[in-house]
Amino acid sequence: MSVDRNARRPASESPWRVPVKDLVHSAGIQRTLRHTWPAPEQVGTPVLGVVAGEPVDVDIRLEAVHEGVLVTGTADLTLTGECSRCLDPIEAGHTADLQELFLAEPSPEDDEDQHLIVYETIDLEPVLRDAVVTALPFQPVCRPDCEGLCADCGVRLEDVPAGHAHERLDPRWAALADLVDREKTSTPETEER
Ligand SMILES: [Zn+2]
Ligand SMILES: [Zn+2]
Repeated sequence: MSVDRNARRPASESPWRVPVKDLVHSAGIQRTLRHTWPAPEQVGTPVLGVVAGEPVDVDIRLEAVHEGVLVTGTADLTLTGECSRCLDPIEAGHTADLQELFLAEPSPEDDEDQHLIVYETIDLEPVLRDAVVTALPFQPVCRPDCEGLCADCGVRLEDVPAGHAHERLDPRWAALADLVDREKTSTPETEER
């Protein structure tokens, strides 16, 4: 019946949903999979991530195990974002490590973060998302030694001579500085006598 065929079809046409019919209940069988797929939406953090649709090179091994299908491998991608210190754009290659066990049956023991084989397919999208996000720094920098911006005037510290600084006096000393200035200007008069 056509209804049955539809029920077996993956819910999403995303390439990240991979058919594993050959691996279900076939412990011991394994195969490799190499593909370039467009990045899904929202892989990364608001400050650093993969632009949706950009190519991601996936190189994984699919292994039939007793509990389901074990996925191990890598995803090569480009991270795009902004330096948290100098606000310059960042574009850097990144290799995400992918490792996930997709269960043939839901496990009653731990009901969180379970990845299941659904309609004889596995969904690599959340696996990619988790692998990228957990590896990202909270405050990305364009270079480890990026000097950032001047806290006072906002200029890029690399664009100005070393030692760029603004003279700032503690308000408590400002009054004293005034006194010192007045004394200095009055000194010549004293010497004239
Ligand atoms: Zn920077
Ligand atoms: Zn400054």
